Amino acid sequence: MNIYNLLNKNITQQELLNYYNATIVYDYLPENINGLVFNYNNISTIVINKNLSYYKKRKTILHELAHIELNQLNQIDKDLFAFKVNNYEDDANLYIKKIMEDIK
Ligand SMILES: [Zn+2]
Repeated sequence: MNIYNLLNKNITQQELLNYYNATIVYDYLPENINGLVFNYNNISTIVINKNLSYYKKRKTILHELAHIELNQLNQIDKDLFAFKVNNYEDDANLYIKKIMEDIK
């Protein structure tokens, strides 16, 4: 079960969240932060900026799911603010881009 399946509509977002033991919360974040993800007690929490448009929220959820799928949360190790790590940001974006290209 992965993002590829989600984008192909073989599974729902909720099914993928359950699979990754992940949950989404919507909150007011600083303007320059679309979202972030952190892991605590084996639960991944994705925080999405409430101010985003529907489309940007969807895009940000995919981005944060990519972090989970690429197992970057364990590597960051207790740094709750994963979005600050630029290399990981690039990896997550590239990963989504690749899946999108595969589907086309
Ligand atoms: Zn990120």
